[in-house]
Amino acid sequence: MKVAVYPGTFDPVTLGHLDIIRRSAHLVDKLVIGVTTNPSKEPMFSVAERLAMVKRETADMPGSIDVIEFDSLLMDFAEAQGATAILRGLRAVADFEYEFQMAGMNQQLNDDIETVFLMADVSLQPIASKLVKEIARYGGSIDKFVTAAVAEDVRRHLKANS
Ligand code: ADP
Repeated sequence: MKVAVYPGTFDPVTLGHLDIIRRSAHLVDKLVIGVTTNPSKEPMFSVAERLAMVKRETADMPGSIDVIEFDSLLMDFAEAQGATAILRGLRAVADFEYEFQMAGMNQQLNDDIETVFLMADVSLQPIASKLVKEIARYGGSIDKFVTAAVAEDVRRHLKANS
């Protein structure tokens, strides 16, 4: 069985993430979406909230998809899941340097797990969780970048914390 891990912060999950998930789910027998706790990024949503959001948004997608929280070295998590590949999305040249470095270091940690890069649909490539949050904080519409339910989650969060 081919298992791949798609790791990320998903703060919040965007249409770009969901496109990568949709594209990768039918390339493998099982896709494990790993939601990192990542306190260094000071996420807007708790890991439990992000996990619930990703679960809800992927519930109706075809394919075998698990959504799991992790707080360890990515390669250890991937190995524990029986994965042979790590999936990452590439947006633009700006992502390349960081992703290149991370893939290189992960290869040194475990050469049996390949990092595979996928491109989201061209129209969804500019979307970044960070900008979604910034736009929402300034009262802009994020409806083109996230699902209606996620947009509501972001609005509710901002209202509760204003
Ligand atoms: P991380 O903190 O690991 O970068 P993110 O949630 O920001 O977590 O992103 C998870 C993965 O999804 C990364 O590989 C990132 O490059 C990719 N990604 C995010 N947004 C998009 C997008 N719009 N198109 C393609 N890939 C994306």
